[in-house]
Amino acid sequence: MAKKANSSNHCSFCGRSENEVTLLISGVSGFICDMCAEQAHEIVNETFKGSEKSRLDISLSTLPKPKQIKDFLDQYVIGQDAAKRFLSVSVYNHYKRILQKNMKDDVEIEKSNIIMVGATGTGKTLLARTIAKMLQVPFTIVDATVLTEAGYVGEDIESILTRLLQVADYDVAAAERGIVFIDEIDKIARKGDNPSITRDVSGEGVQQGLLKLLEGSVVNVPPQGGRKHPEQRMISVNTKNILFICGGAFDGIERKIAQRLNTHVVGYSSSKETARIDRENLMQYITPMDLKAFGLIPEIIGRLPILTYLEPLDRDALMRILVEPRNSIIKQYEKLFEMDGIALTFDKSAFEFIVDKAIEFKLGARGLRSIVEAIMIDAMFALPSETNRKKLHITREYAEEHLEKSDFGRLKVA
Ligand code: ADP
Repeated sequence: MAKKANSSNHCSFCGRSENEVTLLISGVSGFICDMCAEQAHEIVNETFKGSEKSRLDISLSTLPKPKQIKDFLDQYVIGQDAAKRFLSVSVYNHYKRILQKNMKDDVEIEKSNIIMVGATGTGKTLLARTIAKMLQVPFTIVDATVLTEAGYVGEDIESILTRLLQVADYDVAAAERGIVFIDEIDKIARKGDNPSITRDVSGEGVQQGLLKLLEGSVVNVPPQGGRKHPEQRMISVNTKNILFICGGAFDGIERKIAQRLNTHVVGYSSSKETARIDRENLMQYITPMDLKAFGLIPEIIGRLPILTYLEPLDRDALMRILVEPRNSIIKQYEKLFEMDGIALTFDKSAFEFIVDKAIEFKLGARGLRSIVEAIMIDAMFALPSETNRKKLHITREYAEEHLEKSDFGRLKVA
């Protein structure tokens, strides 16, 4: 145990004698003064800064298994089984890879970034957000459409990592094992088959930039985002263990799939196989080749080894989305009214009307909410002031009348 030293002693670090310092503490074979002790304390703090936060509070035994992850997704997202299974396994493996990093092992598990293809409004972002709810790693969603090559109007690729650093509270070690969802990846597809007639600053150039991130490299990130400028201090982030999940609608990719299937069928298959192709949902046959035909560069495709698809939402799925998820649209409105002491109920035929309108207006799941909002707005305005009101029941007629009254028709997609 350290004890107070006597006057002829000197600090073993700075050499000052006891008379020159406020306090000199003796150890087994040396001394340290108060100033050096404080400095040492600072060095220790600096060295281990964030390491408490960076510790991942999981072990292989407490890790949620893929089935548990999927069960969790099932509570919020309707259908999309294929995508859910791929996501659950990838996230589980992502954790295992992180845990393995802390063990000494010859086999290095490589990460498997994911690409999800499916029409807009089918639940890609919802899946990503729901995964984020149960994660213990930093997670961020970025939009690929705002990215441009360095030096052009728009955001640098590095801004993706700025966001991740921000959600990780600038804890670099935590950010380095985070998950990034890149939305609208299809919007950075090559604009034509010819690689470069004119400069393609928001297409192939961005893909090249993104490739560096996906491959795993050390990237200098501006901590506050924005353009890099020389006087800004950069933070180095290694992307080797960051899991990237990409999503995109890839409008028109069905045509490429159909083309490929047709050629294939003519060339090699019997008519029996042709009959088995479900032409209503070609997305299920998607392969990396189709992504290439759409305009993603092969190197990017190679770095997104897990390709999965989302199914189009039919009438049945829309109906389920309206009422089933844990925080379904209807449950949210019931809650809003409940807070005013009003029990809100619906006829099944009212739900059917809402779903039919969403289909008619070609708004998909995204439209359900706006339709319900348009129907409920009058009641939400008036009822909180009616103190004796305890119930509100929505019939199909009520729904029809109030939707008609609103100027919702404007939203109709031609
Ligand atoms: P995408 O990212 O595929 O364009 P989103 O995930 O943003 O679509 O979906 C838009 C909205 O539609 C979501 O907020 C959600 O309310 C609803 N939605 C879409 N698909 C589903 C689904 N499979 N299950 C439940 N809700 C869904």
